[in-house]
Amino acid sequence: MEEDTIREKIVEVGKRMKEAHLILATDGNISVKMNNGILITPSGVSKWEMKKEDIVKMDVSGNTLEGGRPSSEYKMHTKIYKERNDVFAVVHTHSPYATAFAVAHIPIEPIIAEAVLSDIIIPVAPYATPSTDEVPNSIKALLKSHNSILLANHGVVTVGKDLDEAYYRAERVEYLAKVMLLSKMLGSTNILSKKEIEKLKKAWKIK
Ligand SMILES: [Zn+2]
Repeated sequence: MEEDTIREKIVEVGKRMKEAHLILATDGNISVKMNNGILITPSGVSKWEMKKEDIVKMDVSGNTLEGGRPSSEYKMHTKIYKERNDVFAVVHTHSPYATAFAVAHIPIEPIIAEAVLSDIIIPVAPYATPSTDEVPNSIKALLKSHNSILLANHGVVTVGKDLDEAYYRAERVEYLAKVMLLSKMLGSTNILSKKEIEKLKKAWKIK
């Protein structure tokens, strides 16, 4: 995909994140890895107002190649690409229901079939001061086997083979958190068994 097309896609996903109430104000960030660097959303710009020219181009080590100030969480993004060769897009949100689980330090469990489309269990990474090196370090171990991670007292990070996949995971984490919270309010959260999960994976042809 051409760089310009990727920039347009990032702008579009930013607006979808706003519309889906996954972010507010200037929060949240998106990046995409290309052959010749990383495109990442700028710092301090609302995703409603963000233009494709605002998007910053960096190298894989986090040096700015083009544009202004990158997202303050750029170190988390570059770390993810370093750790996972199969990842080409990263989405970070502060979506409220998932963030509530991150605040409570409660992982999201498989409560409905679609859980197999994100991660079976969405874990909580230890608390790390936002925008510091602590954040990439806090998710390092979990990244090996998870595509969606809750950041304690902070938010959510999701990864994917492309931007659509990373974004849909962010939407799904929020939905699962909402349903799990509502079921807790009803007083009965029945988690799908390992056996049911295996059956689902087979039926939906998921590895
Ligand atoms: Zn954040």
